Amino acid sequence: MNVKDIQPFVPPLRTLLGPGPSDVHPRVLEAMSRPTIGHLDPSFVALMDEIKALLQYAFQTENQLTIPVSAPGSAGMESCFVNLVEPGDKVIVCINGVFGIRMKENVERAGGIAVTLEEPWGRAVNPENLERLLEQNRDAKIVAFVHAETSTGVLSDAEKICSTAKKFGCLTIMDTVTSLGGMPVKVDAWGADAVYSGTQKCLSCTPGLSPVTISAKAVDKIKNRKSKVQSWFLDFNLVMGYWGENAKRSYHHTAPINPLYGLHESLLILKEEGLENSWERHKKNHLLLKEGLESLGLKLIVPEEERIWQLNAVSVPEGVDEALVRKKLLEDYNLEIGAGLGDLAGKIWRIGLMGHSSNEKNVTYCLAALGNVLREMGAA
Ligand SMILES: *Cc1c(COP(=O)(O)O)cnc(C)c1O
Repeated sequence: MNVKDIQPFVPPLRTLLGPGPSDVHPRVLEAMSRPTIGHLDPSFVALMDEIKALLQYAFQTENQLTIPVSAPGSAGMESCFVNLVEPGDKVIVCINGVFGIRMKENVERAGGIAVTLEEPWGRAVNPENLERLLEQNRDAKIVAFVHAETSTGVLSDAEKICSTAKKFGCLTIMDTVTSLGGMPVKVDAWGADAVYSGTQKCLSCTPGLSPVTISAKAVDKIKNRKSKVQSWFLDFNLVMGYWGENAKRSYHHTAPINPLYGLHESLLILKEEGLENSWERHKKNHLLLKEGLESLGLKLIVPEEERIWQLNAVSVPEGVDEALVRKKLLEDYNLEIGAGLGDLAGKIWRIGLMGHSSNEKNVTYCLAALGNVLREMGAA
């Protein structure tokens, strides 16, 4: 490559109906282009307080430690594991897709002992199986699970899982990267202890931040660890000095100023719409898409009562080249949908209707484009 030829990057205009990122709201992009200020500027500190309050609303929690980690959802995941899991801690990890596998990896890297509850891909975590496993592992300290598995489009019963974990004296780590903003997430009502999310799914912000909320009980465990958190950057004991209640705002790292303007705007949009209305919109558009897919002769792989609204896992019909369909959708329609991951690679498409992308116009557009491409390719 000759650097002399390089021009400013102008991205193509796509419609993002994959597993994330979703279309970013124009108000968010506009907010992010405002002038950068210092991260200890009093007006930035006021912005941090508003972001905390808006995140508490989104998570439905009064947890004081509710902050955006300055890195993507995977870092939010890692922050929960490195802070809560002490060397030798036994952790029950529920696995029903890709993100559960990553949780197990995180437990082991933090020096914990992972005991896995494996469920079939495309199905929810069964709380009765969890209860049985907890009976056999009375020394377990933590239960970790994914609320909305983006790799399969499956919802697990978070309330039941949290109450089961509590019965055995366990803390919970819950992944809400895909569920936050798109379906009910009730951190306090469910009693979840360490909950992380992402900004680029149902919040319609740009990728790169990870909202996290930690219960008082979990903060207690973190403050009383016998060993230091192995990650300096993600150590909540240090991060609390910057983001915490009555914190001195002592320098830890430079907060990503402009992305936080974007997050503030996206949470404000969520508040203006109202959480319940946002959930309802995601549900309505999911049902519209489902009807249309069925009339094209396509099937969703997840049983109806275990489906999430914001990610639809669709069976690829026999004899259809699934990658070619996605390529044509992108090239001819500027439309992005997702492929299957892991065991489901090549077998499903993942159609996301997340955040700003979840609207009736996109559903109609997606169905028309997919129908056209399948007909062109001679699919039945
Ligand atoms: C997208 C996603 C993640 C990872 O988030 P990144 O921002 O890509 O790091 C984690 N868990 C689930 C369920 C996700 O859908």
